[in-house]
Amino acid sequence: MFKEMDQDFVLNTYSRNYINFKQGINATLYDDKGRDYIDFTSGIGVSSVGHGNARLANAICEQARNLIHTSNLFLIEPQAKLAKKLADLSGFDMATFFANSGAEANEGAIKIARKYGEKKFDNKKYKIITLENSFHGRTITTVKATGQKSFHKSEFSPYPDGFSYDQNIETIYNSIDDETIAVMIELVQGEGGVQPFDKNEIQNLAKFLQEKGLLLIVDEVQTGIYRSGEFLATNLYEIEPDIITLAKGLGGGVPIGAVMTKHKDIFEPGDHGSTFGGNFLSARAGIEVLDILESYKNSGLLDEAFLQFEEKLNTIYKKYPTIFSEHVGLGLMRGFRCKDGDILTKAIEACFKEGLLVLKAGKNTLRMLPPLTISKEEIEEGFERMVNALDKIS
Ligand SMILES: *Cc1c(COP(=O)(O)O)cnc(C)c1O
Repeated sequence: MFKEMDQDFVLNTYSRNYINFKQGINATLYDDKGRDYIDFTSGIGVSSVGHGNARLANAICEQARNLIHTSNLFLIEPQAKLAKKLADLSGFDMATFFANSGAEANEGAIKIARKYGEKKFDNKKYKIITLENSFHGRTITTVKATGQKSFHKSEFSPYPDGFSYDQNIETIYNSIDDETIAVMIELVQGEGGVQPFDKNEIQNLAKFLQEKGLLLIVDEVQTGIYRSGEFLATNLYEIEPDIITLAKGLGGGVPIGAVMTKHKDIFEPGDHGSTFGGNFLSARAGIEVLDILESYKNSGLLDEAFLQFEEKLNTIYKKYPTIFSEHVGLGLMRGFRCKDGDILTKAIEACFKEGLLVLKAGKNTLRMLPPLTISKEEIEEGFERMVNALDKIS
């Protein structure tokens, strides 16, 4: 009945699985028939503190009872606190603009870069270089920033000018021209196939751009908020970008996006805005998520989960040489490269039948983004289900 309702009244933009989830406890989801699923997806990297997290739920409820929203025309105490917390945890002297999604955070980053290019140079610099297989969002501008031809559908044209794509980090240097203002990259390409870049290459690029006075924008919408093992993948790569964008894991499921930058003087009142961005509810959620994950990291529990997850990946990967060709990723952002797309589809379906949720990335990567708070038992159980699934298709 709800399936028909969905099909009649919700616009058809997703190939939806019609399972009806009713409840979640950490990394376990329950459907309307009481069946349980181990969640290695966390809602595409969003439910960072797990489902049904009591601390997050209490913080949201308490905030909702007091104030959900005023507007950005007034002080929003939790927004100021969250911005300071982002600066503290990242170790960067940066200020933040709050939006509601990853695409919107990237839009903000592009606007900062363009204004920087206008203000700081004699000639107008506005071009932004991104990478092939990147993903930066679904708005007209961020989809154009996304370096995947299949996303640039002609029906939605014309797209904004000023974006070009490089095959890898090495070729970026030659693509920079007199109108280039920024390079925008993910440090681990998520949607593109869970592909991390080489630390040295990234450090050299960061240094080069800094020397030229050009901007490095790091899209941490997927890699940020401890997904890589450090607070930001930027911290792991030991670079200091000009602009960093965040979203997915930051609100634990409450929509929030953020653009952080050390160029605090670029935006002035009127340059940018958002009705909802960083309101009482989402900012309060962000603070609680960061508090939870900060203590999780400091207690060593996060690193234990990483190690356990990685051990499992290593053994399973070796066990199925006919299915997998490579295992990729870092932290709790992981992938198995499958031999081809058909095998990947079969593997995801087989996992689902065994009660394990996994994702697809790129053409042939089985992607795993479990909640960062996933328990030892859930990791064990999830991989046991994966082995059962893979045994059936190998
Ligand atoms: C998901 C994602 C986005 C888009 O985020 P939305 O919240 O869906 O707009 C942008 N960049 C990266 C790296 C992402 O993974």
